[in-house]
Amino acid sequence: MRADPERAREAARTILREFGVKGAPVPVERIIKARHIVLQYAPLEDDLSGMAFIKDGVGIIGVNALHHPNRQRFSAAHELGHHELHAPEIEKAVHVDRGFRVLLRDDVSSQGIEPLEIEANAFASELLMPRDLVASAVDASGLDIEDEAGVEALAKKFRVSASAMRYRLAGRF
Ligand SMILES: [Zn+2]
Repeated sequence: MRADPERAREAARTILREFGVKGAPVPVERIIKARHIVLQYAPLEDDLSGMAFIKDGVGIIGVNALHHPNRQRFSAAHELGHHELHAPEIEKAVHVDRGFRVLLRDDVSSQGIEPLEIEANAFASELLMPRDLVASAVDASGLDIEDEAGVEALAKKFRVSASAMRYRLAGRF
C-alpha cells in the first residue's frame, strides 16, 4: 500500500465541515465522542503515544495520559485518523503507536515510515491545524515562521506542540 496523505487530509476537512469548526482549538475530543468512539486516557509507558482498535463493533482510542496535553490531542487525532481511514486494519489487530514523535524530528525523512502512519499524521495535522485557519492566523499576526516565540504562540492557540506546528508551517505533514 502506498500512502495517500491527500485522501487523509480530505477526510479531516470533511469532518471539520460537518462539525462547522470555525476557529482554534479544534474540539478533537468532542469530534471523537460524536463518532461514537470510546476515548480512554491511561498512564502508559513513555514511548507509547496511543492505540486504536475496534472490538465487537465498538471503536476504541487509547491515549497516554502521562504525556503533555497538547501531545495527547495529537495522539487522539492520529488514532481517530486510523479509525476513519484504516478501519479494516484496526479491526483485525490492535494498532499501537510507539512514539511517532520520532516523525516530528527534523532529520527524519518520511522514507521507511509506514503508509498508515503517514496517513494518520496527515489526518491529525489537518484536523488540529486546518490549513485555512493556520493561514489566516499567520496572516493576522504577520508571523515569520523563523520566529520561535511566534510559532509557540500559534501552537498554543491551536493547542498543539510547537514541533507539530513547525512541521505544519514547513508543509511537511
Ligand atoms: Zn498510528
